Amino acid sequence: MVQKMVITQNYNRNEKKHHFLLDGLIVCYECKHKIGVRARKNGRLDMICNNYRRNSKLGLCTSHGFNYELLEKMVLEYIKKLFLQINSKKIELNIKNSISKHDYGKILKKIETEIKLINDNIDKMYVDKLNGKISEEMYERLFNKLKGEIKQKEEEYIGLKNEQENNSYDDVDSIKKLVKDFLKFEKPTPEIIKVFINRIEVHQDRQVDIIFNFKIINQLLKNLE
Ligand SMILES: [Zn+2]
Repeated sequence: MVQKMVITQNYNRNEKKHHFLLDGLIVCYECKHKIGVRARKNGRLDMICNNYRRNSKLGLCTSHGFNYELLEKMVLEYIKKLFLQINSKKIELNIKNSISKHDYGKILKKIETEIKLINDNIDKMYVDKLNGKISEEMYERLFNKLKGEIKQKEEEYIGLKNEQENNSYDDVDSIKKLVKDFLKFEKPTPEIIKVFINRIEVHQDRQVDIIFNFKIINQLLKNLE
């Protein structure tokens, strides 16, 4: 109980000190360290690469000392514009490269059947070899070919199964619903932002890359470029 109270108090104190919407999400593109936000005496919020700040004498990175408020404004405007387009179907989320939640079972079943078919063929070939219908050499060659096919399909199967179990697939309907909910907010909370954004990479030349948590949105942005 006491432990809990102490943690809560510390947390609240921290909250007052760093209440930035994008806090923890901003990453230095050049060195991949986090970029921190600091309040200047004049109240201006500036970003600085933590790696540069800690090791400025070593010259491991550059300052990336840009204005945070400008970044936050730009990022929010960008997301809002993108989401409005998705919501009004001006931009269609393309499911082609992604599998919807409901299709996993079907695809896994199909691969299972294919593997069974290949195994049946191997059994048949073995009988053919015993009966002298095909030569030992031919059998060997076909056997290796089919075994290779099975291995490939098994790898595909395991990969898909992992995706399914870890919920790492994109469900277009859920994303559309999240987008719709996001647009209802006057100003989004850090929690909502973290649902969508994986990280924001800031380049020294002020280019900004937003990396979303959803593969399908990242692909969409690549296609829009
Ligand atoms: Zn850096």
